[in-house]
Amino acid sequence: FENQPLDFLKHLNPEQYRAVTAGEGPILVLAGPGSGKTRVLTQRIAYLVKAMGVRPHHILAVTFTNKAAREMQHRLETLLGEQSQSIWLGTFHAVCARILRREAAYLPFDQNFVIMDADDQIALVRQALKALNLDEKLYRPAGIHATISMAKNNLITPEEFTPRTYRDEVVKRVYQQYQTFLRNNNAVDFDDLLIETVRLFRENPPVLERYAGRFEHVLVDEFQDTNLVQYELLKLLTSVHQNVFVVGDEDQSIYRWRGADYRNVLRFESEFPDVQKILLQQNYRSTQTVLDAAQGVINRNHQRTPKRLFSDRGRGEPIVLYEAVDEFAEATFVVDTIRQWIESGKARGSDFAVMYRTNAQSRLLEEAFLRAGIPYHLVGAQRFYGRREVKDVIAFLRLAQNPDDEISLLRVINVPPRGIGEKSLVALQLLARETHQSPGHLLLELGEKGHDSPYWARFPGRSAMLLADFGGLLANWQRARDTLSLIELFDRILADVGYEAYINDGSEEGQDRWENVQELRRLAFEYRERGLSAFLEDLALVSDQDTLPQDQNAPTLLTLHAAKGLEFPQVFIIGLDEGLLPHSRSRDDPEEMAEERRLFYVGLTRAKDRVYLVRALRRSAYGVAVEQEPSRFLADIDERLLQRQGYRRTRSSATTWAAERSPSSRVPPSPAHAAILQPRYRPGQRVRHPAWGEGMVVDSRIQEDGEETVDVFFESVGFKRVIASIARLEAI
Ligand code: ATP
Ligand code: MG
Repeated sequence: FENQPLDFLKHLNPEQYRAVTAGEGPILVLAGPGSGKTRVLTQRIAYLVKAMGVRPHHILAVTFTNKAAREMQHRLETLLGEQSQSIWLGTFHAVCARILRREAAYLPFDQNFVIMDADDQIALVRQALKALNLDEKLYRPAGIHATISMAKNNLITPEEFTPRTYRDEVVKRVYQQYQTFLRNNNAVDFDDLLIETVRLFRENPPVLERYAGRFEHVLVDEFQDTNLVQYELLKLLTSVHQNVFVVGDEDQSIYRWRGADYRNVLRFESEFPDVQKILLQQNYRSTQTVLDAAQGVINRNHQRTPKRLFSDRGRGEPIVLYEAVDEFAEATFVVDTIRQWIESGKARGSDFAVMYRTNAQSRLLEEAFLRAGIPYHLVGAQRFYGRREVKDVIAFLRLAQNPDDEISLLRVINVPPRGIGEKSLVALQLLARETHQSPGHLLLELGEKGHDSPYWARFPGRSAMLLADFGGLLANWQRARDTLSLIELFDRILADVGYEAYINDGSEEGQDRWENVQELRRLAFEYRERGLSAFLEDLALVSDQDTLPQDQNAPTLLTLHAAKGLEFPQVFIIGLDEGLLPHSRSRDDPEEMAEERRLFYVGLTRAKDRVYLVRALRRSAYGVAVEQEPSRFLADIDERLLQRQGYRRTRSSATTWAAERSPSSRVPPSPAHAAILQPRYRPGQRVRHPAWGEGMVVDSRIQEDGEETVDVFFESVGFKRVIASIARLEAI
């Protein structure tokens, strides 16, 4: 292999080098954020191929999100070229889906199985509740689903599920029914992907041998967030060669709610006794200021190995802590600051990430970005994949793939309206149960045999004909699936049902909806080689911390959970108020509180150069402004690392804060400068505010720190005191 260039090794520090070039056997790399774990893992793969002569298709690499998989694929292409294509690379879910499709012969469903997405799963729980005559107001579908999922992730079957409470009794029955529905639909949920693979391996030793024999090397990123099933899978897959390379960081474990269990790291150490443990020390991502702040936050957690994070990137810029008057001003501050950076030419849109605790917090941000005319990139399934039209078209495609998929069938059987009403549907479902076949199957038969079908007479009036027509469509699509390209099939289905005329009524909203369908078509085009089933599979796996790339040069809006593993030059974290971060749910549970702290820690350590922490003094809840307490986590950041800005600073304590800070971080302009500044607003002047609308200036003055505060009486909300430089007042 001498002629294979190993140049990339030159840039590694000694510990990283040791990890990348380690010999065979289990290896555990534990290290803080930004220390190069993901980079080491990627280069390890290149090293295996180039220096150890491992064939790429004998390597399996597991990442935490599809986005991370794409990024790693990209890096590997640079390092390995063509060869990178044959590496098995993806999330646990994607890898399992691939295995299950190949091994369908051993499974209780066939290889055209569909993957139910998060919404479908809830819909299925609803159906199960209904079938059992249980009231969904008493038994929240989402809550029940969470319990089922937790059981699944601990490899507990419905039969093994032992009820301790009355609610558990209910869960058990719903769980049973839910699984039956899945099988009848020839469908699996996310959890099944993992569980069925474990079951497949346990029950079919020759199949396991084939895979475990094939994967000579298995590598896992973000190992601290694996759950029990994933750990089990890992053990199975590495049972022949034991060449398992995992990297992780206990302080970044943030998926406890999904069953992730940091104890897997301890388990790993005891179950692979000859493990080589490698610790990485240096952080290459962030400035020392960012690291010191992050450390102050995480040090408050107990039961962890204390680590010291250091960087040789220098101190860098102080962390800005901005206190906005309310949630509108919070969003405005974020967007204004980003806009100023972009306009100054010193930063690009893609340098920024705005992070928050809950998805709902993105709405005001989105609006502020839209108003400012700045494109943004929202990570999350909702915006695109949650749209009705997108879900409709996906449902049609899923039916072409698998007519047994009842959830999809129910979604679109009457879309666009074709006269199939509730009564026909009930009759169809009853008959399906009675004859032990799926409703889709029945439709196919009605379509094919028409009047000759023994079931024709079971439907009242015109409904047999209407159902048969739809059955005819299903049959056409199934045939088309095997003869047409994906795009042709896509167009064919939309033409068959007249979807464009239905969704696009010429209104702006209609056009928008049709745009989304076109967007999905563009995406389908990228699957022209891999085909329908790969397309549907990837769509189903686009989970909420994941999305397909959109605008390359736009700021990213995402939850703290979704930010895992990523890095950005400048990071905003908003909503630093008690109840939001930490979330109110965690208030009474120390374990949960520790996890909130880790979540904030993950957010902080995404930043390379700058962090802005933002909070609001008031937030409205159901129309009433509620005073907010600052997040307890803020108190754990050394005041000397902070530069306070915003409302509170001018209200009273600006001078005290300024005095406490080290002189170097003092904010200009100085008081001397303030003396020569004139207020921009005069009493009596009319102004407009982006959130509060029109109002009249009552008073205005320059504070000693040079900021102009303006008292305004707004028609909508009454008297407000704002800071001119941040409130985006507009004279009218
Ligand atoms: P996290 O825990 O947040 O996932 P990580 O440990 O996986 O972080 P990486 O993302 O691999 O860290 O690396 C962080 C940054 O540091 C990346 O930009 C990476 O390219 C860079 N980096 C890592 N090691 C080195 C090195 N030896 N020389 C230069 N840059 C490095
Ligand atoms: Mg990483």
